[in-house]
Amino acid sequence: MKKTTDEIREMFLCFFKEKKHIILPGSSLIPENDSSLLFTNSGMNQFKKLFLEKTVNPQYTRVTTTQNCLRTGGKHNDFKNVGYTSKHHTLFEMLGNFSFGDYFKKEAIIYAWEFLTSKIWLNLPKKNLWVTIYEHDLESYNIWKNIIKIEKEKIIKIGNKNKQKYTSENFWQMSDTGPCGPSTEIFYDKGNNLFGKPPGNNSNNGIRFIEIWNIVFMQFNKLNNGNIVKLSRHAIDTGMGLERVAAIMQNVTSNYEIDLFQPTINLIVKMSQTNNLNNIHINIIADHIRSSSFIISENIVPSNEKHGYVLRRIIRRAIQHGHKLGIKSLFLHKLVPTLINSMGIYKPILEKKQKQIESILQLEESKFINTLEKGLKLLEIEISKLKNNVLKGEIAFKLYDTFGFPIDLTTEICHEKKISVDMLEFKKNLKNQKKKAKKAQFFINDTGITIPRKNSISSNFIGYNIKTSKSSITNII
Ligand code: ATP
Ligand code: MG
Ligand code: MG
Ligand code: MG
Repeated sequence: MKKTTDEIREMFLCFFKEKKHIILPGSSLIPENDSSLLFTNSGMNQFKKLFLEKTVNPQYTRVTTTQNCLRTGGKHNDFKNVGYTSKHHTLFEMLGNFSFGDYFKKEAIIYAWEFLTSKIWLNLPKKNLWVTIYEHDLESYNIWKNIIKIEKEKIIKIGNKNKQKYTSENFWQMSDTGPCGPSTEIFYDKGNNLFGKPPGNNSNNGIRFIEIWNIVFMQFNKLNNGNIVKLSRHAIDTGMGLERVAAIMQNVTSNYEIDLFQPTINLIVKMSQTNNLNNIHINIIADHIRSSSFIISENIVPSNEKHGYVLRRIIRRAIQHGHKLGIKSLFLHKLVPTLINSMGIYKPILEKKQKQIESILQLEESKFINTLEKGLKLLEIEISKLKNNVLKGEIAFKLYDTFGFPIDLTTEICHEKKISVDMLEFKKNLKNQKKKAKKAQFFINDTGITIPRKNSISSNFIGYNIKTSKSSITNII
């Protein structure tokens, strides 16, 4: 039977509550006191310390959460996948169950299997499920084979082609340091009418076999010097992708066809007057308006650094794809009411920040749209002059420096035309510019304007109304 995204989330939390887990709220998208991460990228981030502690609070040995995650940089970077695969988002929701010194491999695998296949829970056909394991983890292999009784052809061992230990798709790490360990992952086969290879074939493009759940056996800690040490007690960290499971439960091929995205997609279609619902540009906008709205709701404003820069990249990429669809007027802020209405449990939180989200989007779009057209024209001219398939880094830098063109936009546009960008030269130019600006006690903003350091941008939203203080914001950005 079809299930809404909200129903699936509730079932998951309910299932683990029945298994004596305490339901805790997900954390902010901005990790607290953790310089190793810009944005929360998985459910376990907020528990990082708990994984590393020797003793455990007896109240929190079994925990379940739903966590908004953002994967736009660092170790887990899906920015460039978004729109080009039907299963990656910049922001997505990860459902998870955690054990801190309580149950381990056997129970974690049995719980996941029960939730996915039991008639009273998701009731997915067992024959459609495949699993991967870390190649050295025979314990997991035996649990799948002898207890779950999955055919051995559907248990794929994943190692590392250079035979390096502790590096594999099935050896999970939060970031370059911190808790880590072998994992076992569950994939769903959506049927042989779709293209795609079984897990283990290193193919991220297929739409047939979808990774839905990662179960990590936290046994190690990776230190700053790269050494891996054993944790004093074991732990479980799992992550199930809500949008992917919703696509399965709603019997659709792409995540963008699920209930959560449809109202926004329909509105983008209306604005762009296209008939093609399954359109990369539409999907990118639907994804990016969601992630940028959530980021702004955490009081981040677009800027040239850290969180603000990620937000700026997301907004500008969405604007560029709107441009491709032929949308002529400022449009991002007009999507916000529809987006918020379809965000289920997050609706009240987003509603409180609605004005803030709309004004920031509108301001960023109005600033960027003028330069976008000029920049695109310049890029077209430069591309037409090319004698080979490489765009000079100097040109990419000029676009960035003079037109505020994020380098990702240049590389994405070039990539579509099978042209590469000389990134080494681009970075050299960028470094030189930063050096000069530092020397002069100035910084140069994304539109090429040089500003004294004392006016530098703060990432924290201080609250403004677009009508009354647009000019002051324009002055500082
Ligand atoms: P993939 O290989 O598809 O990129 P992953 O192995 O990087 O996924 P994990 O780090 O194992 O993902 O995260 C746990 C689960 O979260 C995945 O099994 C998947 O269901 C979901 N997930 C991961 N990345 C995304 C994303 N960008 N958008 C939507 N869901 C995601
Ligand atoms: Mg990934
Ligand atoms: Mg994976
Ligand atoms: Mg995974």
